[in-house]
Amino acid sequence: MEYKNLGKTGLPISRLSFGSWITFGNQIDNQISERLMDIAYDYGVNFFDNAEVYAAGESERVMGEILSKKSWSRDSYIVSSKVFFGAGAQVPTQKGLHRKHIFEACNQALERLKVDYLDLYFCHRPDKSTPIEETVWSMHQLIMQGKILYWGTSEWSAQEIMEAHMVARQYNLIGPVVEQPQYNLLHRQKFEVEYAQLYKTVGLGTTIWSPLASGLLTGKYNNGVPADSRLKRDELGWLSERLLQESNLKKVAQLGDLAKEIGTTLPLLSIAWCLKNPNVSTVILGATKEQQLIENLKGLETELLLTDEIMNRIEAIVDNAPEHPQY
Ligand code: NDP
Repeated sequence: MEYKNLGKTGLPISRLSFGSWITFGNQIDNQISERLMDIAYDYGVNFFDNAEVYAAGESERVMGEILSKKSWSRDSYIVSSKVFFGAGAQVPTQKGLHRKHIFEACNQALERLKVDYLDLYFCHRPDKSTPIEETVWSMHQLIMQGKILYWGTSEWSAQEIMEAHMVARQYNLIGPVVEQPQYNLLHRQKFEVEYAQLYKTVGLGTTIWSPLASGLLTGKYNNGVPADSRLKRDELGWLSERLLQESNLKKVAQLGDLAKEIGTTLPLLSIAWCLKNPNVSTVILGATKEQQLIENLKGLETELLLTDEIMNRIEAIVDNAPEHPQY
């Protein structure tokens, strides 16, 4: 495994990490979840990603059980949670980025994950109905209380991230250090263009999600939707509609041919492509089966196969390089 500082912090994060969305407490049983965490940790993965909303809190509960069973020293891994959507929110106070929900969600995440502090705490989406000052102060206070070490955002606009930084500067508070955006071969604009200045100015760290576009970039959907796959799940109809488009499938098939030609697999080519971007601090992997994770963890070795020539050929296939504004 290789490690890289998370943005401009001093925190070394493994370049491949592991997350639990859809899977823990939901799609896979707890034994498989434990096996996957074992495989990841033994491989050198030091970051495990979670959120209050995943399986309405159950994902954190499962991960907490696993972490408390292991003899892994607390200083050897990084664990996150995210606040915004609530853990099965029933009433208005149980979601959002107001002080009340941030404090309660953090305490609940600590309880479910069975840890004394979270290493990373993300604001899972922007909250248009809470003043940014209130959110930044609340995150700062959690750091002061020792309940979280660093905080960040997920799917915020560059402008919202900058607003948080300006508030932090104005009141001498600790600002966000990391953003968690979607980034993969089929989804590039925000990561490559909108955030471009933030990598230089605030030294934004990134923990990117869905490197395989929920599995589309493995080629497993090229000839239909397998029965035990993510996009077969009823609650994810919106996602399969978005992803399973003829134009995407055509590109995926061509990328698969290229992967074969250079002696690798499509999931590995897709993960390695994300790793090649120097603004990616860590690629968060997801898996439902041991074999998937064992394969995906080889992403770092595959990076070496992506020469300039191969990167150009990939670019020609996906044909979606975002335009950078000319100043
Ligand atoms: P991916 O895009 O890598 O999708 C992972 C899924 O693809 C697996 O669960 C599996 O699904 C399938 N898969 C993975 N590897 C293979 C393989 N080698 N062969 C065949 N199928 C494979 O990542 P995720 O979408 O899971 O995102 C990763 C993490 O990012 C999440 O767990 C979460 O922590 C975070 N995230 C954050 C979000 C945010 O808003 N901040 C949003 C989404 C995710 P299956 O077997 O069911 O088909």
